[in-house]
Amino acid sequence: KISYYNGEFKQDADISIDYNDRAFYFGDGVYEVIRLYNGVFYTLEAHIDRLFRSIEKIGIKGIERNEIMEIIAGLQQQNQISNGYIYLQVSRGIDGRNHSFPVNTPPVVMAYMNTIESSAAQNEEGAAIITSEDYRWLKCDIKSLNLLPNVLEKQRAVEQGAKEAVLHRNGTVTEGTSTNVFIVKEGTLYTHPADNLILNGITRLSVLEIADELEVPVKEESFTLADLAAADEVFITSTTLEVLAVDSVDGQAVGEGLKGPMTMRIQEAFQKKTQKLNMS
Ligand code: PLP
Repeated sequence: KISYYNGEFKQDADISIDYNDRAFYFGDGVYEVIRLYNGVFYTLEAHIDRLFRSIEKIGIKGIERNEIMEIIAGLQQQNQISNGYIYLQVSRGIDGRNHSFPVNTPPVVMAYMNTIESSAAQNEEGAAIITSEDYRWLKCDIKSLNLLPNVLEKQRAVEQGAKEAVLHRNGTVTEGTSTNVFIVKEGTLYTHPADNLILNGITRLSVLEIADELEVPVKEESFTLADLAAADEVFITSTTLEVLAVDSVDGQAVGEGLKGPMTMRIQEAFQKKTQKLNMS
């Protein structure tokens, strides 16, 4: 596999990361994950827009959109992958370990591609989730490399046999460690508003678009742990998981304990959108 680090495309085995890369010391950078279906990137522009919003929000300078697009094109050319994803990160650069920003140091891009064999989310019956306290910072809208709380809480989920930990601040559900969360109550779809407390997922935006197309009422309003427990349906979304039904929360069955009709409709519509890429 050919990947990219700091200006060069190389075989994975030949890449070495500079230990003065600020991504390594501080997690001082941002990233994106973009899905590729049948050789076509899904919602590429939206991901690149979000990457540059993250870049701007943390004040990284000296990186242009065309540079990122060229790296993506280069990876696609050199790797025979048509169903998979690209991981791309931009760090503030390479310099001695000082908290303050280095001067005149260019940012460092790292990127690779990988295959994803099948769209698991559509087939799976439903996933178990647990709930955890959201003790992250107040800039969760930035897709930061700093993911320690996410890592710790995801691990807690895994240790309890669950797929994801859904986070809450004082009882208000925000999002999962690497997913957005939707509930269905009496035919209405609820999800946390896109503010500083969540990452505005591109899959979340696809689901909102689908809801609009299907004329499903949506409320981008925060909801509580009690609402989550009492929901008719729950699902989580991300670029890699797509739309995944949740069948239990903290060991309690959701609704009837089966994948709900709204979740199925949204999954079907999402699948149509990604399959359409084949034809375009
Ligand atoms: N929320 C968090 C914290 C995430 O890390 C992610 C994705 O990794 C998401 C939500 C889902 O975002 P997207 O649908 O753009 O993958």
